[in-house]
Parts: sequence; C-alpha cells; structure tokens
Amino acid sequence: MLNTKVWERACGLARTVVEGVRVDDSDGSIVVSARPNAKARGRCGRCHRRSPRYDHGDGRRRWRALDAGTTKVFIEADTPRVRCRVHGPTVVAVPWARHGVGHTRDFDDMAAWLAVRTSKSATCELLRVAWRTVGSIVTRVNDDVEARVDRLDGLRRIGIDEISYKRGHRYLIVVVDHDTGHLVWAGPGRTDANLEVFFDELGDERSAELTHVSADMAGWIARVVAKRAPNAQRCADAFHVVAWGIEALDVERRRAWNQASGRNAITTVTSQRGRARGTSLGIARARYALWKNPEDLTDNQRAQLDWIAKTDPRLHRAYLLKEGLRFVFAVKGDAGKHALDRWLSWARRSRMPAFTDLARKIVKHRVAIDHALDSGLSNALIESTNTKIRLLTRIAFGFHGPEPLIALALLALGNQPPALPGRT
Ligand SMILES: [Zn+2]
Repeated sequence: MLNTKVWERACGLARTVVEGVRVDDSDGSIVVSARPNAKARGRCGRCHRRSPRYDHGDGRRRWRALDAGTTKVFIEADTPRVRCRVHGPTVVAVPWARHGVGHTRDFDDMAAWLAVRTSKSATCELLRVAWRTVGSIVTRVNDDVEARVDRLDGLRRIGIDEISYKRGHRYLIVVVDHDTGHLVWAGPGRTDANLEVFFDELGDERSAELTHVSADMAGWIARVVAKRAPNAQRCADAFHVVAWGIEALDVERRRAWNQASGRNAITTVTSQRGRARGTSLGIARARYALWKNPEDLTDNQRAQLDWIAKTDPRLHRAYLLKEGLRFVFAVKGDAGKHALDRWLSWARRSRMPAFTDLARKIVKHRVAIDHALDSGLSNALIESTNTKIRLLTRIAFGFHGPEPLIALALLALGNQPPALPGRT
C-alpha cells in the first residue's frame, strides 16, 4: 500500500493530492502523479480566481522537482484550461509551480539560491540544467520578489552608477541605497531615457524625498537627476574622481615609458618579441606600484617608487598628484575642500597637460565634489557594489538578454536574498 502522504511530504507538496508514484522505465526517474486539492482546484493560472472549466488543455504535463536522493523527480498532472473572467481561457494554476513553467517552485528557489551563493558550474552540475535555464529561473524568482515588496520604498540617499559589460558593448544603470548598502534597482542602457525609467518607477512623490544622489559626472545622469530629483544634492562619486587621477597618471606613465632608454618594440633578427630593458623595464614593472594605495604597497613596490623618484622625477610628481587627490577624499569635509584647493593650484602649475586638464575638469564639477566632501556618503559602498556587479556580468555571460543579469544582481545584492525551499 503506497503511502502518498510520505510523497507529499518528500516533494514539499501543499494543497495537493498525490494519486500515485512510479518509476519511468525510459530514464529511471520517479514520476509523482498529483492533482490540486479541492481548495486549489480550478483556479486561473494568472490570478488564482476560481473559474469554470474551459477545455482539457494540453492534457498531462510534467514539472521537474527537486531530486529524491540521486534520482530525478517529476510531478505529473492534468492541465485543463479554465475560463477566467479577466484572463479568458487560461491553463489552470497548480500549487507546486509558477504559471507556465516546467520546474516546481522549490526547484526554482533552490536554483536561485545556488546561483547567488555558488558558482555557475556548481549550480548547473548539481541541478542538471543549462545555465540559460538558470537565467530564466532567477528572472521569475526575482519577478515574484518584485510583486511582493517594493525595493524603492523609503529611499533618501542613493548612488547611481553605470556598468559596462560584454566588453563594453552593453551597459547597465545601477542604483544603490547609501543607507542600507543594498542594490535597489538596475536597468539596461546608459541614456537619459534609460535613467528616466528608474524615476518613473520611483514616482514624483518619492523622487522629491531624495536628499542626496551620488553619481559619476556623466552629463546624462546630471541632467536627469536635476530634472527628476529637484530636492536632492548631487554629489560626485569620489571613486570616479580618484579614477580620473589614475587616468592622468597613466598618461604620464606612458610618456615616461616612451622616452625611457632600453625600449625595443621592434622584432629582432631572432624573431623574438621586443622586450623592455633598463629604464623602460623599471617603469613597466612599477605600473602596479603606481596604481596602488600607499598603504597596500609591498616592500618591493615601495622600492620601485623610490627608484622612480630618482630616475623620473616628473613621473613621481604625477604619482604624488594622484595620491593627493585620494587624500582629499580620505579627509573629507572642510579639510578635504582646503586640500582640494591646494591640490588644484599644484596641478595647474605641474606643467603636465594630463593634470592641468584634470584641474579644469575638477573645477567644472567643483560643486558636486564639494557636496560629496560634505555629505560623508560612503565611497567604498559604490565601489564594492560596482566590483561585485562586474563579477556578476561575467557569471551572467550566456544568459539571454539583460533581464537575467539584472535579476541575478538584485537577488545577490538586494535586500531580499533567495531562501532555500522548505526552511521558513
Ligand atoms: Zn485570471
């Protein structure tokens, strides 16, 4: 005598009657025949309204469920259509799965949990599904979260950033809540219209409650923020301003390398690749030392900087200018503003075009930079979210379109992380 209660329990089935269990001889999987119980029966798959039967639909269907031990399990049931008074003829709702999909809710939840917590290959191998399928699953799991909670509620201080992926061919706009550290919104593109979508979802009332918006100094972000968040102070992202300093330093580093002795870019007679020697080799090696924060330098890198100070004082001055800019944002407040004034006069007199240009650029954005120095908004937050999303864009390679990437990012970095099935 088959204990159907055990199978209901094993498959985590609620509001469901198990009719029987068998082994499918073709592939050795376990097939659990089931039907919604009296309460769950005859409801529209979209809105769950009880509706009269329309026709028998596509007959019996199967849903992939979580494995029993090492064996694949499928739930099998009739899927008649009902005539919903809102949605017309619609496939009936089943308690164990989302509408119109081939995996059970528990399977979806497990896949989303694994995708956020482990690697792409671990998720696919353990669940025996394609990565593209995981993409569809995280999208619908996130859609469920969006239907349940409003991630845009209570926002006051936000950061807006632009992330490029697919080797710079695609872009995402991401919005972070400075007060909770959570990712609250992400959308495709990098234009005024793309960012307007966020403010449309936020609505005028909540947009008016924003007090601070930090962003890089891209014109399109500034335009949209000025128009849609009239009460918000626009702050420069320190992380992007310091990145400008690193870019200017790089111009000087390339200049130094081009002028250095020992450079040999031409292929030699023995057809070996030209290799840097002498001074140019030293500069090439010191590249990471120049980029790094002084407190993160190894002894060896410190020695490389000392060597640069001796052999190329101009490059060393460029390095100090980059560090000076970082210092401005490390001290913040009025001290930061004074430091920035000193930095500007230093950069203007530097006779290095990359830095005189940068000084002009900083003056142009001075108001937003001063707001950033006053606001005390965390630069580390935007930078770390930025880094994590970049990592996700690589993991999401193979997903179809931007939606699964956006869903994965929101699940991984938002305030509603996926839960394991059956643990609540
Ligand atoms: Zn309906």
